[in-house]
Amino acid sequence: GKLNGPRTQLEWHDGLIEQSSKLRAPDLRNHIASSVTDLVGWTPTVMLNKVTAGLPGRVAVKMECLNPFSSVKDRTALALIEDLERQGKLIPGGENQPLEMTSGNTGIGLAWVAAAKGYKLTCTMPSAYSDERKALLLALGTDLHLTDKLDGPAGMLARASELEEENPHLMMTRQFEAAANVRVHYQQTGPEIWSQSQGRVDFLVATAGTGGTITGAGTFLKEQKPGVEVVAVEPLEGAYWTTGCGGPHPVQGVSPGLDVPTLDRSLFDEVLTAPSAEAMQMCHRLAREEGMFVGPSSGLAIHGAIQLASRPENEGKLVVVIAPSFGERYLSSPPWAQFMEEARKLPTKLLTEEEKPKA
Ligand code: PMP
Repeated sequence: GKLNGPRTQLEWHDGLIEQSSKLRAPDLRNHIASSVTDLVGWTPTVMLNKVTAGLPGRVAVKMECLNPFSSVKDRTALALIEDLERQGKLIPGGENQPLEMTSGNTGIGLAWVAAAKGYKLTCTMPSAYSDERKALLLALGTDLHLTDKLDGPAGMLARASELEEENPHLMMTRQFEAAANVRVHYQQTGPEIWSQSQGRVDFLVATAGTGGTITGAGTFLKEQKPGVEVVAVEPLEGAYWTTGCGGPHPVQGVSPGLDVPTLDRSLFDEVLTAPSAEAMQMCHRLAREEGMFVGPSSGLAIHGAIQLASRPENEGKLVVVIAPSFGERYLSSPPWAQFMEEARKLPTKLLTEEEKPKA
């Protein structure tokens, strides 16, 4: 049955949307793209094979890591910037510049989209985040403002508001409030899944951070086929939708433990949970058994997809699950940090004179 929850307060889904015209179809086999921004979307969807062996249901993974900067948020970032352009708040070559508070993939998405379009992104993020993330943002030309970890997410917001007040040319992109964040998944991610599965999709499984992905894609798929079930997955340690009480958990980018305008919980047919440690183990299995290197939220979502595919009543059903990001962005954090450790400790062998190749 349906879960109770607030409907999204956003007017993102109105009569103005013409879904099919928005679905870009670049044919990269006989076409040179004009900008990296043209490479966003149309990510492949691929079957799981080994980790689902013997299960009644089938699982296909939408590989959002194959966007230009390796995450689903490349779609959102481009949509947020282009929406501000449509509103006239950002003009290429103009004085106004984008501003966002984010530590994550949205920041990286906004940074490269800004670079490609000739803007300078200003970003606030907690100092505690990894040096790799900071370096990536700096390399893309971002003006980065760090806030103390003691101030938490509120610190990022406070600093961003301060910057916005100091500089009237900074335009906040507001991923947690922007209709464009949901709309892009209604116009692209949902239709792509519909097209790639040729309408055979029975379940859409996803994690949610802002909720843009699951709300937009889920709404589109239910409109095509009302029987499609939208299933959210959250970490057991931060099971806000299941228990009403969030909590700290290690799955970056998802389940912030609050209600946000970009998430429509009334769309959820079911919420599944998985312990974070099992989500992380799933990442390891996907690497070694499927050759798929994805981030923790993908491990969590796929854990949920496998729970569904394991149910006898889902015999022959097709579960499509969103894998939001690529594993390499998390090499210094779970679930990959252990391999960094292992890599550092690998023994080396010095060749003896006899073993050395003769010139
Ligand atoms: N996984 C990762 C790694 C993310 O960065 C995000 C975005 N915060 C999500 C999942 C969730 O996507 P959405 O914001 O569209 O719910």
